[in-house]
Amino acid sequence: MASNVGCMAGDIPFNYLGLPIGSNMKSIASWKTLVDRFHMRLSSWKANLLSIGGRLTLIKSVLGSLGIYYLSIFRAPESVLQDLERIRANFFWGGNKDKNKMAWVKWPIILNSFDKGGLNIGSLKAFNLALLQKWRWRLLSSPNALWVQVIKAYHGQEGGFDTNGCSFKGIWANIVGTSNFLHSKGIILSNTFRFKAGCGTRIRFWKDIWVGETPLFTRYNRLYHLDQDKDCLIIDRINNGQWSWNWSRTNLGVRNLAYLCDMLNEIGQLNIDVNEDTCTWSLGPNGTFTVKDARYRIDQNILPTLAHATTWDKSIPRKVNVFMWRLSLDRLPHRLNLSSRGMDIPAISCPSCNANVESANHVFFECDIATDMWKLVFRWCDIPLFQASSWDSFNDWIISWHASKEKKHRFYVITTLVLWWLWRYRNSVTFNSQPLRKSDLFDNVRFSSFSWLHNRDHMKLSWNDWLMYPLSITRNGNG
Ligand SMILES: [Zn+2]
Repeated sequence: MASNVGCMAGDIPFNYLGLPIGSNMKSIASWKTLVDRFHMRLSSWKANLLSIGGRLTLIKSVLGSLGIYYLSIFRAPESVLQDLERIRANFFWGGNKDKNKMAWVKWPIILNSFDKGGLNIGSLKAFNLALLQKWRWRLLSSPNALWVQVIKAYHGQEGGFDTNGCSFKGIWANIVGTSNFLHSKGIILSNTFRFKAGCGTRIRFWKDIWVGETPLFTRYNRLYHLDQDKDCLIIDRINNGQWSWNWSRTNLGVRNLAYLCDMLNEIGQLNIDVNEDTCTWSLGPNGTFTVKDARYRIDQNILPTLAHATTWDKSIPRKVNVFMWRLSLDRLPHRLNLSSRGMDIPAISCPSCNANVESANHVFFECDIATDMWKLVFRWCDIPLFQASSWDSFNDWIISWHASKEKKHRFYVITTLVLWWLWRYRNSVTFNSQPLRKSDLFDNVRFSSFSWLHNRDHMKLSWNDWLMYPLSITRNGNG
């Protein structure tokens, strides 16, 4: 057989792109190559030399072509996905092969989207399931492709996506299985893959979903049984702009005529036109299936959700966004948090003032250095001082503050920098590394906020105007 088709006979399983073709992909051992490469690639980047924002970017890109290749054909066993996620989580927190770092937020939360309180990474499980769904879309949208003909020859006209299922086990049956799984969980219903009638030359009148939520044969089963051609296309049921039938008997009877009236009411509204029939996915933008949208939808169903959405501001660097996210969850490694997580630390008092317990509220709002900073910043911005006791109360105040969107945004950027520099100052005191001067902090805030807004936000203010009127929208300092 092999020589007839012009290739060499080989043993099964063999490797193709490192993928063990012909081996049982339900066994964990078959995935070892992928897990090892994944590990190797992440450890080749020195986690501790990158910022958390840089690590976040790398985590999103690390899968590479090999991983996408595996995950778009096979459903990964749960334990393999867990291994891969564990490697990603450890890298995110700055750990490496030999050393795990403390995880401050549960990984499944981090994987979730911004609107659900996460960092928008997306789970590999959802990615895997979404990639496999794409085969269903391809089956419907490319009916003339050779592989589609082959699948239909083996598994029937519906490619196994009907109650008959697949004819035999294998890669395709597993793909159909994931689709059935997502349908049964109510995550992606089968009837979201459907058709939009154009000229009617592709859609089967009874068997495809093109009007309503199910194929017509399920709702008008008696009529379906009376049709002499059960696989007929829409176009076969049209003659001279009229519906035309091919019943197996001339007298339908009163009951069937009543059904026919109902069905005509349903299909009569549709205009058959000159455009080609197309398939649509009702959950996608413009009716098109995308892995991104399917993945998002799956993640919404399998990942835990926080009550508060993540604030992700494009004008500030990723590492500062991550810092703000951790602050909003009170998951920064200040002394109170470290000790409540069982870390053995010599003292829990604030290293700057030695007077209070070092909590987030103390570092950012209560310690003298913090209250001094806020006074300077409010005066500089020409806003009456608001004395907050926590980030939550401060954030609520910004939200309720009556000011234009742009002013609010600028003030948010300035605020993040106050918090960021207070944190950097705290770290420099704690670790005795390159001590920052207290007197420089305010200048640092003014300089960094100017450079971010200038470079990332294309703010028009000059440096001198910025020093005078940071919240002014016009050049001359008014407004
Ligand atoms: Zn203090």
